Amino acid sequence: MRTGGLITAFSVGTTLIAMSAAHAAGVSAPPTQNKDWRQAWRATRDAQVERNPRLAYDPTSLLVRFRTDADKACIDAAKASAGLHPEPIETWKLVPSAEHLAVLPGVRVEHAIKVLTASPCVEVAEPDHFGSVNVIPNDFYFSKLWGMHNTGQSVYGNPGTAGADTDANLAWDITTGNNVAVGVCDTGIRRTHADLAANIWSNPGEVPGNGVDDDGNGRTDDTWGWNFWSNNNNPTDDHGHGTHVAGTIGAKGNNGIGVAGVAWNVKLAALRIGNASGTISTSAAIGAMDYCRSKGIRISNHSWSMTGYNQIFYVAINNCRTSGHILCAAAGNGGSDARGDNNDYRPAYPASYNLDNIIAVAAVDNDDRLCSFSNYGAASVDIGAPGETILSTSKAHDNGYVGMTGTSMATPHVAGAAALVWGRYPSWTYAQVRTRILNSRRPIPSLTGKCTSGGCLNLNNAVQ
Ligand code: CA
Repeated sequence: MRTGGLITAFSVGTTLIAMSAAHAAGVSAPPTQNKDWRQAWRATRDAQVERNPRLAYDPTSLLVRFRTDADKACIDAAKASAGLHPEPIETWKLVPSAEHLAVLPGVRVEHAIKVLTASPCVEVAEPDHFGSVNVIPNDFYFSKLWGMHNTGQSVYGNPGTAGADTDANLAWDITTGNNVAVGVCDTGIRRTHADLAANIWSNPGEVPGNGVDDDGNGRTDDTWGWNFWSNNNNPTDDHGHGTHVAGTIGAKGNNGIGVAGVAWNVKLAALRIGNASGTISTSAAIGAMDYCRSKGIRISNHSWSMTGYNQIFYVAINNCRTSGHILCAAAGNGGSDARGDNNDYRPAYPASYNLDNIIAVAAVDNDDRLCSFSNYGAASVDIGAPGETILSTSKAHDNGYVGMTGTSMATPHVAGAAALVWGRYPSWTYAQVRTRILNSRRPIPSLTGKCTSGGCLNLNNAVQ
């Protein structure tokens, strides 16, 4: 009996529940009587994150994967004794028997994990780690996309080196994309932007705005993506990072305005997994990967990282791998001192998960140097791409452009490359596409011994 589980939770945690009056957020209300408990949980979580923007993980929820042979009684007892809400916040087809669970008010996540780990029906219990977008804020503006084609032009006062680029102009003579879908797992997208509107993915199974979950995926009117952070159908960008990333992957090319993305013809799915401050949660990222697989989206971009390892996220990415998905991930921006770290020793996830469907991306500048902030790793980072003073679309208005710097900006160059290659060779496997991108890199001295390929993305070579 569901309420029985809840009562047990209360009875074993009497002192904890006594503390809960101060919270009074409604999370503890029995789910059968309060259908909005998830919404209440979310509001509590958001308030905590806002108060403590540097949290390493969510203090209000956790991730559990139960053993596949576990019976319901054991699972219910484990949840109750750990002080968890009996119903999951969410589950994913992508990771069977995994659940995202809310801790009851007053229960500490660390304590709940300890209790769960001791349960015979739990395979793994872990925090819902937070990460952050890998951008270094600045306010420059310039008119040349040096990463696409570098003629030695000065970028924000720094003279460049001709040819220190991705040869995008040559690649575009061969292909400008074939409408391959890319999941932009980020802070959302300003889909009305003049340079993005034509390239926004739309859900073929959903009738826009009819208030019905037409495709039966549990998400109503997920017309052009989903907001996994807030669990609603509005993946608009109120941070700016996701819109910038989207423009580098696939701003419309040759339309007489603004900038050109790597793939001029592409479908950008807005999979919002972060808040307005650029904080990302593992649970939201798993939701986005689950969504990609269910919609046949074979490429995703992750311009963010976290130091926390999650076994359940690893399983999610691995299960995407077996369905042929490539995940492009930022190597990270050097942590709190913004000086690049060696990911071989200081992993940054998801880039550092040891799975061959991940392309981990470092950032290079317009002189073919590894950016000082960029993480690297002879074994754990794969390739470099332009990541300093990159111009792209702004979330501020429909004709706005802005420059940004970071491995966040390098990564979407690679996701765009995957879209170009896969558009040109639709029958290729994920391994073939990834191998082509890495093998066709342009070797540069600054990346020797710093990444597996030892070179910078070269679009022209990749699309041959
Ligand atoms: Ca739907």
